[in-house]
Amino acid sequence: RAKSEGHGRYRLFSDRMAEGIRAERLLERDLAEAIEKQQLDVHFQPIVDLASGRILSFEALVRWTHPVRGPVAPSEFVPIAERAGLVADLGDFVLRRACREAAGWPAAIGVSVNLSPSQLARPDFVLTVVRAVHETGLSPARLDLEITETVPLSENSAMRAMLEQLRSLGVSISLDDFGVGYSSLSYLRSFPFDRIKIDMSFVRDIGRRADAEAILKAAIGLGGALKMRTTAEGVETEAQRDWLLGQGCDEGQGYLFSRPVPAADAARLVATGAHSSLRA
Ligand code: C2E
Ligand code: MG
Ligand code: MG
Ligand code: MG
Repeated sequence: RAKSEGHGRYRLFSDRMAEGIRAERLLERDLAEAIEKQQLDVHFQPIVDLASGRILSFEALVRWTHPVRGPVAPSEFVPIAERAGLVADLGDFVLRRACREAAGWPAAIGVSVNLSPSQLARPDFVLTVVRAVHETGLSPARLDLEITETVPLSENSAMRAMLEQLRSLGVSISLDDFGVGYSSLSYLRSFPFDRIKIDMSFVRDIGRRADAEAILKAAIGLGGALKMRTTAEGVETEAQRDWLLGQGCDEGQGYLFSRPVPAADAARLVATGAHSSLRA
């Protein structure tokens, strides 16, 4: 009896797995179609100067509304795109859209674009960036690329060389989700990032957990000592903003200032100087 139960459990598990794989295949097919038909969208979330509340730049965040399922979170479909080999096309689309929108904003406002590790693994990636800024007329100095810690940079000299080339074009490079990767400190040593974006999981615990606050303080201090700007992600309350400002954090991003908004709203935010309404 125990044997047949075990077998049953195994069957259930494998059925579920097969179901999961089927569901992913379907989503993958729909995503390929959405990319091809340019049905993806890009929203923009302000990154503000913590002291003044002024908008410094926007982060471009990809959006997908599935015709049947409705909105699908990027944390769900970006990994699918990665596994299905679609991420170069997805990444190109976001990069171009982001550069095109930013080219219409005042010259002081920058734009940050998230990169997938496999984009950086492509030898023609620098050329892709050169084309995107050239064709949209965006000054490369207004473009920032966000990378997350996945592959140890020190062990990847091709990726390092690529980041250096991008740098020499004037593009800035940010280390995203700092603190939740597995090799944060060695990452900081292997490349001179322009900015550290501290993961929101720490910001959430300001005023609640001494360990999170200690890590935030250390990260902000480290950024300062290494001459990198520090950005806190997921700032939702004034108390969090004030605490971060008190610790010397440079920039903030989060629902306190604005949610990610469609391109037209982002343009309005900068044009109407709506940053004053974001001010403390
Ligand atoms: P990320 O790069 O760390 O982006 C910040 C995420 O935090 C965004 O989620 C944003 O909507 C969310 N967020 C911002 N402020 C707050 C806040 O105050 N509270 C909370 N709870 N969340 C906040 P989103 O748009 O769902 O994106 C999730 C992740 O998906 C991103 O994390 C990034 O890793 C990835 N992603 C998004 N767009 C792209 C893209 O175009 N390309 C690639 N490769 N990855 C992307
Ligand atoms: Mg990011
Ligand atoms: Mg981030
Ligand atoms: Mg994050």
